[in-house]
Amino acid sequence: MSRIQSVKARRVWDSRGKPTVEVEIVLDNGCLGRAIAPAGASRGSREALDLRDGGASLRGVDVSRAVANVNGPIAATLKGLDVRDQQAADNAILELDPSPLKEVMGGNAVVATSLAVLHAAAIDAGKPLWRHVSDYYGQQPSLPLPEIQIFGGGAHAGRRVDIQDFMIMVPGASSFDEVMEITSEVYFAAGDIMASRGKTAGLADEGGWWPVFDSNEEALETLVLAIEKAGEKPGERVVISLDVAASEFGKNGSYRLALEDREMSSEALIDMLGRWLDAYPIVSIEDPIGEDDPEAMVEFTRRFGDRVQIIGDDYLVTSARLVEEAANTGACNAVLIKVNQIGTVSEAVETFKAAKSAGWGTIVSARSGETEDVSISHLSVGLGAGQLKVGSFQRSERMAKWNECLRIQDELGSDAFVGDAPLAKTWWAS
Ligand code: PEP
Ligand code: MG
Repeated sequence: MSRIQSVKARRVWDSRGKPTVEVEIVLDNGCLGRAIAPAGASRGSREALDLRDGGASLRGVDVSRAVANVNGPIAATLKGLDVRDQQAADNAILELDPSPLKEVMGGNAVVATSLAVLHAAAIDAGKPLWRHVSDYYGQQPSLPLPEIQIFGGGAHAGRRVDIQDFMIMVPGASSFDEVMEITSEVYFAAGDIMASRGKTAGLADEGGWWPVFDSNEEALETLVLAIEKAGEKPGERVVISLDVAASEFGKNGSYRLALEDREMSSEALIDMLGRWLDAYPIVSIEDPIGEDDPEAMVEFTRRFGDRVQIIGDDYLVTSARLVEEAANTGACNAVLIKVNQIGTVSEAVETFKAAKSAGWGTIVSARSGETEDVSISHLSVGLGAGQLKVGSFQRSERMAKWNECLRIQDELGSDAFVGDAPLAKTWWAS
C-alpha cells in the first residue's frame, strides 16, 4: 500500500492567461501525481464554483485562497491515506466541503486535488492513467470519437454568433489517426473559405475560427462547404455537431438571438433547430434548450431524440442526480462529463455510470479555459466514453489532448477506436 505523504498546490496559468490551481501529490515511495484545474466561461448555474479571490488585482480571478485550501485543510486530511482508494480520498475532500457547489474549498481546489490523486495512483501502480482508470472502475477501454470545433461562438468568441460550437465528427473514419487527418483538411478548408470572404477575425477561445457571420445559419452553410472543399460528402464520413449553449441567450423560456436581432419562445427555438436538423447533416446537439426550461427540453427530446444525440451540459452539470431525473422525465439522451462541473473524479464517474445505465451517450469534455493537462484524454479512454470534446484543431492546450490520444492509440491498437456515437452512425449509414 502506498500512502500520500504530501499535497502541494501552486498557482499556474491557463490558456486564457488566467490563474488556476495545480496540485502535486507525492507518495511515501516518491511517486508523484500532478493535475491542473480547467475553467469554464459558459457555465451552468448549478455547477461547482471556482474559488477566486475577488478584489482589484488580476481582475478578481486570482486563486490564492483555493491554493491555501489545498495546502492547508485538504493536505492535512489526505496525508497518510492509501492513494489507491480514490473513493476514500474524494470522500475526505467532500467531508471538508459538503456544500452543493463546493464553494468552501473551491471547485478548482477540489478537482485539481482529486485528479492528482488519480495520477499518483496510476504512477504507483506502474500503469498509464487510462489503464488505471479502466482497471479501477471496471470499464472496457476504447478510443473515443472526437467532436472537434471548427467555428467558435457564444461566450468563446465575443458573442459574435449566438451558437457556441460548430463542430464536426468523423464516425466514418477507420481510426483515431484518420479522424485527425480528415479534421485537419476540413478545418483549413473552412479557414480558407472564411479568409477569402473576409469572414474571420482570428481564433476563438478553443482554437476554432472566430467567425464574422451575418447569421447563425451562415455558419452551418460554410461548414457544409468546408466539408465539401475537403473532398468529403457532408453526412457521409463527416457529420456536424452543435453546442447551442442555449442558457447563454435564453431565460425563462425566452431566447434572444442577438446576431439576428430576434426574440423567440421555446417553441420557436425548437422549430428553428428542427429545420436545421432537416437541412444539415447534424447528428448531435448540446444544450439546445436553456437549463431553466425543462419542459421544452423534454419536448425537444420527444421530437428529435430518435434521430439525434441530445447532450446535456449546463443542463446536467455532470450530476448523477440530474442525469437520473432527466432520464426519468425524458430530457436528453447523452451527458457531457466535465469533472470540474461536479468536483471529484468519483462523482464524475458516478454520473458516467448513471448515464450508461440509462442507455445514454457519454462525452468527456474539456473546458474553454484549459492547460497542458491531458487527464481527460485518459479518462475518456479508460472509461470507454463514446466521444471526447476538447475544442478545436489549433492551440497547444487542445492539440496536447488529441496528441495524447494518438500515443494511447499506439499502446491500445487502432482497433480500440470504437467511437460509439450510435446515432451518428445511423445518420451516416442512411
Ligand atoms: C461547453 O459549453 O461545452 C464548454 C466547453 O464551454 P465552457 O468550458 O466555457 O463551459
Ligand atoms: Mg456546452
